[in-house]
Amino acid sequence: MNPTLSSAKVLVVGAGIMGAGIAQVAAQAGHSVYLMDAREGAARQACAKLRESLDALLAKGKFTQAQVDGILARIQPVDSFAQALDAGLVVEAIVENLDAKRALFAELEALLSDECVLASNTSSLSITAIAKGLRDPSRVVGMHFFNPVPLMKLVEVVSGLQTAPGVAQAIFDLSKAWGKVPVHARSTPGFIVNRIARPFYAEALALMHEQAARPEVIDACMRAIGFRMGPCELMDLIGHDTNFAVTQAVYAANFFDKRYTPSLAQSALVDGGMLGRKSGRGIYDYAAGSKPPVVDLQALPLPATSHLQLHSRAHDTQGMTDWQARLQAAGIAADLVTDSEWTGMQAGHLQIRQTDGRPASALGAQVLVYDWHVPQGGAPVLAFAASSGATEDNIALAQALLGALGFAPQRVADQPGLVVARTLAMLVNEAADAVQQGVCDSAGADAAMKLGVNYPAGPFEWLGRWGAAEVVQVLEALDAHYRGERYRVSPWLRHAVWQAQHAA
Ligand code: NAD
Repeated sequence: MNPTLSSAKVLVVGAGIMGAGIAQVAAQAGHSVYLMDAREGAARQACAKLRESLDALLAKGKFTQAQVDGILARIQPVDSFAQALDAGLVVEAIVENLDAKRALFAELEALLSDECVLASNTSSLSITAIAKGLRDPSRVVGMHFFNPVPLMKLVEVVSGLQTAPGVAQAIFDLSKAWGKVPVHARSTPGFIVNRIARPFYAEALALMHEQAARPEVIDACMRAIGFRMGPCELMDLIGHDTNFAVTQAVYAANFFDKRYTPSLAQSALVDGGMLGRKSGRGIYDYAAGSKPPVVDLQALPLPATSHLQLHSRAHDTQGMTDWQARLQAAGIAADLVTDSEWTGMQAGHLQIRQTDGRPASALGAQVLVYDWHVPQGGAPVLAFAASSGATEDNIALAQALLGALGFAPQRVADQPGLVVARTLAMLVNEAADAVQQGVCDSAGADAAMKLGVNYPAGPFEWLGRWGAAEVVQVLEALDAHYRGERYRVSPWLRHAVWQAQHAA
């Protein structure tokens, strides 16, 4: 089946938040749209609401009157499918329930033409399962938009086991014509975005659960590498009930693979009704008058230091350039050790090392490890941990030195991978597994995470920056520390390390 959908009439079923947005985007692209909802009057209400929001955009000069009139004229609310028999594409955005979606498509299959494509906006159900029992399951495909639909660019085009490649391609092409960035995905739990994003939340929850770092420090560290929101504030915004439900669904759908184990810390929040912003309290308190906690950005005064050395691993030119620029800007002199086993600074017996995943205590008595960060130009917040034997004087010296070099160091517990390294390594690992399993390709994973959830870079872009060997080292340190399946390394990443070694 190779349908052409460029001039198809579109039937959107479900006039809720997603359906209304999909109808708008389709009409904006010039399609005639039928909008249908099981609840009486809902489709008309959605059109009235759309008129209001388009009028507001008109007032701001984002649309012309002709455009607004055209969009609204092209959307026709309907009360029965009999009014939409000439639809060439159905996009369903009804309740997230497998039986309801199956029943809807079975009803539509009997009414609409055999060429009509049946697309589902499901965010968690299997496209293969939705298509089960239909006369022609090959025309069922996922067309997963992100909220708010008119603004979010990503569309995951999800193929079930029986989806015809031509149908997926037609939806891919159509999404492009609608101004979106489509990415092909295979129907597996969480598709691309909801799957790869799990560790962003899970690692923050693990750090909180183990009392390794305060939420405001975790958030500040993740914002420092370019995330618009840290994981704790984002979960508070999404709602812990919703976030926990997605995690549970992905966990169950993966046959309770420990990799996706939900967090006790989050289930406690849900049990206590502390759902986030919407209930006035989540990880943070939103009650009137309470202020969000802030991290201390104050630098300690730098004492006179005798002999400083800048260490750099042989291939870590980026790390060395970053440190050299920082030392120069601070007017601090240091000798260079370019073939070191680690990157960072040495002051007497004190080593300040970029994390390779291992806790500081595993590296020596007077060691501080600092987190992955964006070289130059990134925000200054940087997590560090000190070995259990480190003297208070050395810890203060390291903090002062990091401060003088433009960082705002934040102490966290001496656990593997600190905050950023641990989280990014797990995001990369999840993305690598998704590619290994044919869910998407690496470019698709990068585009999906940047456009679906506004990540500052895609997992494979981070991988390019840090290197497969470094990512695997962090994961192995986590695995050695925690034992169990959670931090097992993706075979794709192991292969990438092997390839890099053999290419060298
Ligand atoms: P919603 O509750 O805002 O809207 C659902 C609408 O569908 C309601 O108006 C309801 O009356 C109608 N409906 C329910 N059963 C129906 C049926 N059998 N026939 C016709 N209409 C029916 O929900 P939503 O947030 O718009 O989500 C809709 C779908 O989109 C779900 O599958 C959801 O998982 C998916 N989705 C949601 C988001 C999001 O952020 N909200 C993002 C991506 C995908």
